[in-house]
Amino acid sequence: MAFTETDRVIFTKEMKKDYTILLPNMLPMHFKIMAEVFRQYGYHAELLENDGRDVIECGLKYTHNDTCYPALLVIGQFINALQSGKYDLNKTAVMMTQTGGGCRASNYIALIRKALKKAGMPQVPVISLNVAGLEKNPGFQLTLPFGKRILYSVYYGDLLMNLVQQCRPYELQKGQTQALADRWVAHLTEEMKNSKKVNYKTVQENYARILQDFERNIPRSGKRLVRVGIVGEIYVKFSPLANNNLEDFLVAEGAEPVMAGLLDFLMYSVNTAVVDHRLYKMNKLRAKIMKFAYDFLHKKQLDFIRLYRENSSFVPPNDFEKTRAAIQGYIGEGVQMGEGWLLTAEMLELIESGAKNVVCAQPFGCLPNHIVGKGMMKIIREKHPGVNLVSIDYDSSASRINQENRLKLMLAGANRVMQEEEAARKTAQEQQTLEAAQG
Ligand code: SF4
Repeated sequence: MAFTETDRVIFTKEMKKDYTILLPNMLPMHFKIMAEVFRQYGYHAELLENDGRDVIECGLKYTHNDTCYPALLVIGQFINALQSGKYDLNKTAVMMTQTGGGCRASNYIALIRKALKKAGMPQVPVISLNVAGLEKNPGFQLTLPFGKRILYSVYYGDLLMNLVQQCRPYELQKGQTQALADRWVAHLTEEMKNSKKVNYKTVQENYARILQDFERNIPRSGKRLVRVGIVGEIYVKFSPLANNNLEDFLVAEGAEPVMAGLLDFLMYSVNTAVVDHRLYKMNKLRAKIMKFAYDFLHKKQLDFIRLYRENSSFVPPNDFEKTRAAIQGYIGEGVQMGEGWLLTAEMLELIESGAKNVVCAQPFGCLPNHIVGKGMMKIIREKHPGVNLVSIDYDSSASRINQENRLKLMLAGANRVMQEEEAARKTAQEQQTLEAAQG
């Protein structure tokens, strides 16, 4: 084991050859494709799929009980996997992302190390995946081509997630949407092995093919369903383990879940340095680089919006510039702790796009997100009468029944409003027909 003066186990170049790196699972489709990218760069990466109460209990056992719920779950997933007997503890490492933001998420790495020690596995290296120049390990390098492929996984994952959300509630044959998405995940994962196929031209071609495939090959009913927006702390918003399968629940209850993809969060994170310089005169060079990265990502997002329109009738993702503009009069871009202004912006964008029922999924006790989520609801309701905003706390002891009852209550109200609107529309139509007949 290679230790530093801070007692951190360094992931060395030698370890790269025969260590397995465990990745936590936040977005199943995105991360499956990403795991293959890691393998292409010589890392034996494995995406963890263990979940359920055992993972939560494991997290509770090895972390302090006021630890943020996302950290508790990630630690629980790692330790539960390491204790399963499936891995050689002297040949396994774990990986965690670090955004470098001001909130506790940047310290999850230290919590993982502490938990590993407590569980009797201090030799397991914890690798930080970050672009902020935080912790470094000689055995792991995030090069530009490697980063580019990870970005492609985000593009593909966002597309497939979005199409599943738009098709699954309406599919005529149960399970058909997810089966098609799984086939595409398998195909794209395989394609990541072929370096000739890994370029932006192929990404655009695949985008068009995927959109057409879902459009043509998933027969959908024309029924009208309530669209429910989901916003929240990034891990709880996306991870089915953290939000008790929120999307599945909404679909089973006859609603369509709607949410922004991971690209929006990346753009928000990249934009942070630009805002820091504009408002607080922080690091000018970093701001310039990040502005370049932001413009690059935004251009790609506009390409994707165009591809949606050219190849399908699906609702494209929002233009992030509009997302940024949506917060005018509500909150400033300087609010960057947790998901910061982005969470408020996502609620506003969803309302704007017709999803007037929004669930804000929060880890219990997550102060920054309660401020930009629940804390902003009063002013949003005042300016948008008729919207239905529900904040739901998630943690290890939160009652699932309570969470689901609150969601059912929200859906009951939303369905009633939709029926009233339908009835009013029908009456107006009949009135028009009658008037036309009378001459
Ligand atoms: S945003 Fe919330 S959950 Fe995430 S680190 Fe901060 S307090 Fe914890």
